[in-house]
Amino acid sequence: MAAQTVASTTNSAPVANSVDLGPAAALSCRECGHRVPLGPVFACEECFGPLEIAYDFSAYDTEELRKRIEAGPANIWRYAPLLPVPADVADKPNINPGWTKLVQADNLARELGVDAGKLFVKDDSGNPTHSFKDRVVAQALEAARAFGFTTLSCSSTGNLAGAVGAAAARAGFRSCVFIPHDLEQGKVVMAAVYGGELVGIEGNYDDVNRFCSELIGDPAGEGWGFVNVNLRPYYAEGSKTLAYEICEQLGWQLPDQLVVPIASGSQLTKIDKGLQELIKLGLVEDKPYKIFGAQAEGCSPVSVAYKAGHDVVRPQKPNTIAKSLAIGNPADGPYVLDIARRTGGAVEDVNDEQVVDAIKLLARTEGIFAETAGGVTVGVAKKLIENGLLDPSLTTVVLNTGDGLKTLDAVASDTGLTATIRPNLDSFREAGLG
Ligand SMILES: *Cc1c(COP(=O)(O)O)cnc(C)c1O
Ligand SMILES: [Zn+2]
Repeated sequence: MAAQTVASTTNSAPVANSVDLGPAAALSCRECGHRVPLGPVFACEECFGPLEIAYDFSAYDTEELRKRIEAGPANIWRYAPLLPVPADVADKPNINPGWTKLVQADNLARELGVDAGKLFVKDDSGNPTHSFKDRVVAQALEAARAFGFTTLSCSSTGNLAGAVGAAAARAGFRSCVFIPHDLEQGKVVMAAVYGGELVGIEGNYDDVNRFCSELIGDPAGEGWGFVNVNLRPYYAEGSKTLAYEICEQLGWQLPDQLVVPIASGSQLTKIDKGLQELIKLGLVEDKPYKIFGAQAEGCSPVSVAYKAGHDVVRPQKPNTIAKSLAIGNPADGPYVLDIARRTGGAVEDVNDEQVVDAIKLLARTEGIFAETAGGVTVGVAKKLIENGLLDPSLTTVVLNTGDGLKTLDAVASDTGLTATIRPNLDSFREAGLG
């Protein structure tokens, strides 16, 4: 990352020294540990490494905290004591994502050869804008309020655009979001309907992201909070709530294995952070868990690096129907590799045909219609079981992070009417249905 990018990220809003973001104490560099006050910065001034939130949880008593969480609202704000948000966050206008269903997927387990009662789907299509992105945007929104931004923005592969649009509408922010111009219609409509500005960029996601970095350094971007750029440290923490919910829904227990999709790798990285926090806080019993990363073959930079034993991720030009995961140059790729290796997991990919098959498999076994990202995780789970990397006797959680209604094209050519008949019984029988 160039030095000028770092400098320019600090001047779009004043660095606040005493903002109220609950237990968030400072920003800390993931590479060198250098700490700076909470502010709209994302890169370390010493080494250009990514900044993340450091917390002060020292005052918490485990059992009191557990009770407080359990008595909290049925959304992510039950975990407010563990997030970079003010204590009264639940009273502010936002779209209250989270507390989505953890579905015990016995039919799917039978198909995949997993022991009964051991396979779960965390179905994040149940969020307000039908993807997991509502979790992360909700954190960025609180940071934007704290830092005095008036416009919410982002670079998006689709789902984020809708989540930002909805959150901004509800909270009374202007929104202006940037997407690759060739996204699925479901995602474009979903992003546009909330009334903010939606800009298609002629290029892929990585081009969109580069453009946003430029805009942050320009006077035109003054007062803008880019949820996944200058507010990224806050945004990213929203993914911890997936870890918290999964463990609480399992009766305050760690799962043995998780299958998590990778776009930038932020979600996977923060799920691990969330699990580690629960262990340190004593909310779950410490035991080994494995995190498996899932990519589409047409955009598999992390999977390729994992299999080659590399520590660095070589960028790719994405070409896959799993557009929400189509980030060719994933910012958190190296951290994902670390986590997969440290926990004894793996990173695997499936091709587009396998993605479609997996979407249909999940729909026909569990009544869950996933978007292509869910096809990626279910497809990868199947592949990992077949190649012996995922243990079918252990508790496994597969994430579905989005809704199939947004990616209808992926399955449209493969589905349709069983028959068209005249409205009488003869016709019904003739069609072989009687
Ligand atoms: C954004 C997104 C992800 C994960 O993104 P990361 O950048 O890896 O955090 C997963 N699934 C869906 C549907 C998404 O939109
Ligand atoms: Zn640093």
